[in-house]
Amino acid sequence: MHIIRKASKIPVRNRTEILVVGGGPAGFGAAVSAARAGAKVTLVEQGGLLGGMWTFGLLSPFFDNWHHDGLNRELREKLSLRGAWGGRKEMTFDQNEMVMLLDEYVTSLNIDVLLYTMGTEPILDENLLKGIFIQNKSGTQAILADIVIDCTGDGDIAARAGAPFKIGRETDGAFQPMTMMFKIGGLRKGYNRDDLRSWYDILIQRIPEKEILAEIPYNNPALITLPRQGEALIQWTHIQQTLGTNAEQLTAATFEGRRQIRKAFEYFKLVRDQLGDVYLLDLPAVIGVRETRRIIGEYVISDEDVKNGTVQPDTVCHVRFGVDIHEPCQTEQTCWKHPGFDIPLRSLIPLKIENLMTAGRCISGSFSAHAAYRVTGDCLKMGEGAGAAATAAIRSGRSIRSYAKMLREK
Ligand SMILES: Cc1cc2nc3c(=O)[nH]c(=O)nc-3n(C[C@H](O)[C@H](O)[C@H](O)COP(=O)(O)OP(=O)(O)OC[C@H]3O[C@@H](n4cnc5c(N)ncnc54)[C@H](O)[C@@H]3O)c2cc1C
Repeated sequence: MHIIRKASKIPVRNRTEILVVGGGPAGFGAAVSAARAGAKVTLVEQGGLLGGMWTFGLLSPFFDNWHHDGLNRELREKLSLRGAWGGRKEMTFDQNEMVMLLDEYVTSLNIDVLLYTMGTEPILDENLLKGIFIQNKSGTQAILADIVIDCTGDGDIAARAGAPFKIGRETDGAFQPMTMMFKIGGLRKGYNRDDLRSWYDILIQRIPEKEILAEIPYNNPALITLPRQGEALIQWTHIQQTLGTNAEQLTAATFEGRRQIRKAFEYFKLVRDQLGDVYLLDLPAVIGVRETRRIIGEYVISDEDVKNGTVQPDTVCHVRFGVDIHEPCQTEQTCWKHPGFDIPLRSLIPLKIENLMTAGRCISGSFSAHAAYRVTGDCLKMGEGAGAAATAAIRSGRSIRSYAKMLREK
């Protein structure tokens, strides 16, 4: 069954040079770098704060942060000064300080930010993207832009505009599971801050692992210590084969994630001698979605690029983090190292649709490449690259596609 929506006049809220959709690590990076380069920027974010998985998702460590300059270094240094950086391998941070720090960036740069605003549909003239429709408490409005950067994680705008995409493994389409993170307090004083899982190894000596896996189907959980003594994040819950771009499945996975968290606390009691009397300090606002659409771009980062450490003439980010696959239909994790590979600007430019870019986990790459570049240090870096390139393309009077071609041929 369907209903035909009446054609209606939609007010144009504003016209901007660069419109960033999604305020996670990639969107934040894109908006800040474009604004610093002098562009007029609007950023729309569906939630009430910036940071995406950093903040809504209760995530740490900030992987692939240490080798990047720019915003990666700035955030690390500013969080350190606030006593909000440290913990496991000197790579974790306090989410609340992160939220307030990101606010300071966008307000001091006068970026036009709209929170509580969903980017819903692209505005197209044939294959030319002119802007997007947004939906929020003010109703439906349009924002027009020279270039739209889709940083929604899921490639919502690109997919709805008709850009081609893939989901999951090349062989069978299966994709990585979701995880609901959670924060504990009361961790035993003296707990080794880099000890991810000895508590789990002891737990499975006390109760058959088969029983645990029937409740929480993942055998490599991580206890990630935070900068503040006694606090840690737990990455353990796993919800397999539920798709983050399907509202019903996303809802069901969210309830299941919280059910698994309740179960986790029953198990923590059995290893009280290892952990201490830990308690639930915080639940995330959203479940963590590892993988949905990978929008196919001018260049697809291949498995060979990852294995061979391909260097690109138009690189926007160098990835060092290893390939980290939470197996789609099993309880294991598969990890492998690589020599380090580049993300070219071309993999941020979708096929078919003009004036559109992507940044973050929805860019163009293989299943395995994505399993490396999806970490937040790289998403932030590619966002920075996208914002700078979009501004340079506008200033040079070229489309982003022809600007990227020029860079490659230089
Ligand atoms: C459970 C889990 C654990 C992880 N652990 C780590 C880790 O330890 N370290 C690490 O570095 N990385 C980790 N990752 C990977 C990393 O979190 C993500 O790949 C990364 O956050 C992607 O960044 P992004 O900006 O592309 O997307 P996101 O962080 O998902 O941000 C997307 C933003 O867009 C907004 N949005 C979405 N759709 C719309 C729309 N239509 N309109 C407006 N706004 C919209 C969202 O609200 C969100 O703020 C983990 C991921 C998961 C799921």
